[in-house]
Amino acid sequence: MPPTIARIITDLALDREFDYRIPDAWIGQVSIGSVVRIPFGRRHTRGLVTALVEHSAWPDLKAIESVSSAPPLVDAAMLRLARWMADYYAAPFEQAIAAILPAAIRREGAKFKKQLIARVVDGREPTAQEEEHLAKRSPRQAAAWAHLKDVRVATAAALDAETGVSRAGLRSLEKRGWIEVAPGVIRRNPHERLTVLPTVAPALMDEQTAALAAVHEQMTAKRPGVILLHGVTGSGKTEVYLAAIQTALDAGKGAIALVPEISLTPQAMERFRGRFGDTVAVLHSHLSDGERHDEWQRIAAGDARVVVGARSALFAPVRPLGLLVVDEEHEPAYKQDESPRYNARDVAVMRGHLDGCAVVLGSATPSLESFQNARNGKYRLVQMRRRVDCRLMPVVRGIDMRVETEKAGTPHLLSQDLIDAIRLRLDRAEQTILFLNRRGFATTLMCPLCGHVETCPNCSVKLTYHRQSEQLLCHVCGEVRSVPALCSNPDCRKPTIKMSGVGTQRVEAAVAKIFPRARIARMDSDTTGAKDSHAQILGRFRRGDLDILVGTQMIAKGLDFPNVTLVGVILADLSLQMPDFRAAERTFQLLTQVAGRAGRGDVPGEVLVQTYAPFHPAVQSARHADAVTFFDQEIEMRRELGYPPFTRLTTVLFKGRDEQAVTACAKEAAARLKANVPATVKLTGPAPAPLAKAKGYYRVQFMLRSAAVRDYVPALRGLLKAFTLPKGVAVAVNVDALSLM
Ligand code: ADP
Ligand code: ZN
Repeated sequence: MPPTIARIITDLALDREFDYRIPDAWIGQVSIGSVVRIPFGRRHTRGLVTALVEHSAWPDLKAIESVSSAPPLVDAAMLRLARWMADYYAAPFEQAIAAILPAAIRREGAKFKKQLIARVVDGREPTAQEEEHLAKRSPRQAAAWAHLKDVRVATAAALDAETGVSRAGLRSLEKRGWIEVAPGVIRRNPHERLTVLPTVAPALMDEQTAALAAVHEQMTAKRPGVILLHGVTGSGKTEVYLAAIQTALDAGKGAIALVPEISLTPQAMERFRGRFGDTVAVLHSHLSDGERHDEWQRIAAGDARVVVGARSALFAPVRPLGLLVVDEEHEPAYKQDESPRYNARDVAVMRGHLDGCAVVLGSATPSLESFQNARNGKYRLVQMRRRVDCRLMPVVRGIDMRVETEKAGTPHLLSQDLIDAIRLRLDRAEQTILFLNRRGFATTLMCPLCGHVETCPNCSVKLTYHRQSEQLLCHVCGEVRSVPALCSNPDCRKPTIKMSGVGTQRVEAAVAKIFPRARIARMDSDTTGAKDSHAQILGRFRRGDLDILVGTQMIAKGLDFPNVTLVGVILADLSLQMPDFRAAERTFQLLTQVAGRAGRGDVPGEVLVQTYAPFHPAVQSARHADAVTFFDQEIEMRRELGYPPFTRLTTVLFKGRDEQAVTACAKEAAARLKANVPATVKLTGPAPAPLAKAKGYYRVQFMLRSAAVRDYVPALRGLLKAFTLPKGVAVAVNVDALSLM
């Protein structure tokens, strides 16, 4: 006898499941993942069946009212993944379910969009005479008929757009018996306007062949594992993914490839669609609900077997799943910024584990976490050290801005070396990218002559300068210091300056002043608000209509412009001085990535990095794209200070408009938590977050660190359930936080 009780989660935010009786008539028909209607208090609501059980601790269960006839939305494995996410990331279960099932799918009545569709009736071809007659009477209908004869099927809307034919015009064609007009489903295809030329797989290079073999070994292993594919930019990682996906398809399985949202460019999509054609589905945040629904259903039906997408594509219903790829695995963009604040890379590893499928994490600059996992044998490390076709790595040179300051008397935006290098490119009709890592709000105190930056002695993060109080503050532990008048480096003792955000606008203006005839464009979140202007600027740059592109992080990634032979980094220090223990790691990753933009064509590229800290390991290692050396140095610092990957770090952030209430609340929560966790859990703060006030909300946080998340997350979840937040104060828990901002 099958189980008679269903455990159900509702959309109402309650973080618990309820038991309901399955009426006799439906026993055997209700399964895990079924959508049901249930009485709930005095109302009725929808729910999702999460388990079938024989016994319930509750007497007198109410019965399910109805069961949706649609196939279940999720299976037991996906529910297990959601449960793990809820537990690990300290989030309510229903939020974890909402994360794996897009709203466009969960919504009642979500279905394929019906449209009026016209199709040619076979065997009822008009004669030439009849066609001529029509052309005289109604040119529009004639045009619509000519078009339909070609394509056989089209929506009324498309025909209207193409030929101007009205609905009535179509009806009149129907009366002639030439066509049929009826409502129907044509799947919305987000790539409709894209024609993609098929490509053939190239013969792989030696390193690629070895990498593919390693991936294949995991794919066919009894317990497939995780591969960390560390390959320099341009080493052909994407080709390895494509080849591995092909072997999954050949084995009758599907694959998911995650790409950071920002790298989901038409270029990137073309590589997948060119190789695999229509079996590629794409999922990203710019899809309409309708498009998302259709793609999801196409995947669920098995019509699309390769899914490419951002973060949430990880939950696509690909079955059976043969391979999971996470490109640019170090990318902070994989972290979801609302609850559950999951890291798609880590959840991918978990899904791979639950689904028994191999996982490939790829990067030119792997995260310290993944490197460490490879070192201690959890992941298999595969390296690709050479660029495809032995193209040269760009020459990376640090420019010591301290020397420039001394020469010029005051700090400058552009060094003479960089100016000369840009001029050379203009003369040779080659292109330049000027890159600015803009983190405007963090102001640090730096000496422009020796490069010394005031740093917290406890936490080893840079102190932030606060003008109003004339103080230096550590945003990790809350340490407050007065502002020294002179540089505290005993060998220097010169007056210091405050480093604040330099904008791309200032850089653009400075360059335009020196090179009035150069064609310059700027790309950052200000200029790229309009949907297309991002693509437009890049299009102009690609066509060679621009000489110099000035921009922020968004130009650092994934772009491939053969004519760019110079990349200038305006101020590496802007990211080195972020008040975050990952500042060096982020800088190394950014510099390496940005350097990868230079010399994608036949001319070797040059990268000039302006910095006040030319000997910093992040700058030095980036010069040789040497991720391993960087890792070896940085990991020791992390070990000493007890930062990840040696601990699991969680931030608990309180925010609200009333500063006192927020601070008091954070203090009380911290105190209560401290009493409930083992002494090995390190709690620091509360302190104002580096972004201390945003949109009128004060932000105060404390930080938890311990060897394992389970050392403190259960206590934290308990606290959150029992704790009544004062009105107007909200809390955000970020397990494995990637940024302390
Ligand atoms: P990565 O992802 O490591 O940056 P890509 O996969 O984008 O590198 O490869 C860089 C360039 O080299 C691309 O233009 C790609 O088409 C080309 N490429 C990669 N592998 C091969 C190969 N085996 N033969 C020829 N060209 C290749
Ligand atoms: Zn500190």
